[in-house]
Amino acid sequence: MREDKPLRFVVTHPDYGTAEVTALDKAAATVEAARLWGAVWREIACECTVSRGQRVLEHYCRRCGRRIRAQGLCPECRAVEELARRMAGSIPTRDRRAGMR
Ligand SMILES: [Zn+2]
Repeated sequence: MREDKPLRFVVTHPDYGTAEVTALDKAAATVEAARLWGAVWREIACECTVSRGQRVLEHYCRRCGRRIRAQGLCPECRAVEELARRMAGSIPTRDRRAGMR
């Protein structure tokens, strides 16, 4: 896994304020913030707002492995997948999904 590196998160709670923590993911960030605040995580978790910190993150395209700036696919692979999806959608079989037009 390339995503298991600790990241900076900003956790905000209406009563406790804002904490900047290092964690592996958003859930872990709320745990860390609760510890900082001396609060019970279970009681504050649902009221927490978590946003990513400032650090530039490294992401890799899950199709070609190229380094990209956001999670998921690089622009090229996204275009390819989009095209593939469209072609699959245009295969003349009955489409039972609602709201496809
Ligand atoms: Zn790619």
